[in-house]
Amino acid sequence: MSRRRQIYEGKAKILYEGPEPGTLIQYFKDDATAFNAQKKGMIQGKGVINNRISEYVFTRLGHIGVPTHFIRRLNMREQLIRQVEIIPIEVVVRNVAAGSISKRLGIAEGEPLPHTLLEYYYKDDALGDPLIAEEHIACFGWASNEEMQDMAAMSIRVNDFLSGIFASINIRLVDFKLEYGRIWDGDFSRVILADEISPDGCRLWDMTTGEKLDKDRFRRDMGGESEAYREVARRLGLLQDDNGSDDSDPDGRGTGTISDLSKHRKLRGK
Ligand code: UDP
Repeated sequence: MSRRRQIYEGKAKILYEGPEPGTLIQYFKDDATAFNAQKKGMIQGKGVINNRISEYVFTRLGHIGVPTHFIRRLNMREQLIRQVEIIPIEVVVRNVAAGSISKRLGIAEGEPLPHTLLEYYYKDDALGDPLIAEEHIACFGWASNEEMQDMAAMSIRVNDFLSGIFASINIRLVDFKLEYGRIWDGDFSRVILADEISPDGCRLWDMTTGEKLDKDRFRRDMGGESEAYREVARRLGLLQDDNGSDDSDPDGRGTGTISDLSKHRKLRGK
């Protein structure tokens, strides 16, 4: 089998050269990291589930006119995407206080914010992705004013749309992280949504029980992370059911068995 050229390996994904110029293949790993990669582990089947969830979310966002890098899913762990010039900023959208904002400002986790908050972090592993102000972005030229306006408007739109999707399956979208990239057309560029949207980069709480259905289960050593990710996929209608007869494949090799979610009743929706 011919080996594809690897362009980049990140913490949870690998990028390979795509079949046509301007395309890449995004491969989803099971590797999980937290606290700026100080904690490392694996969430069994995560890559398969995140590939599906991200495909679903990006496709639905595309239907409402949000431009994204997603072209199509290729197989259990890979999707074809447009190559972009990544803007070195993480946009965090917050509806409810949790995680770093609770620590930084002493706001109790679970406290709804007076209104949706956008935060910007500089993408730099060596610096631990520091929180930055819009002034830093302008000062160092990481994005133009127009790009900032486009990213902010798109992030709010994504938040409103996703909050509705998740609310309809009894999940509260607490916060999430977005990344954007530039695509060039001659001298002109525009900003499109890139990376992924999955329980790796979102806080998702069951609306009835408050149960965490996201990477905090891994960060906080709670266990049941694979089941939580699968539960999100199941509620989105991406797995047929939890009785072992669905079409998913946790290993992505066509040989996986379905873990019995009934053993994890606590994760089930009401
Ligand atoms: N997040 C992410 N990647 C990062 C930092 C944060 O996907 O490098 C997501 C995280 O999963 C959460 C939201 O962004 O949904 C806000 O994260 P927070 O700032 O609270 O950081 P944490 O304390 O979780 O690292």
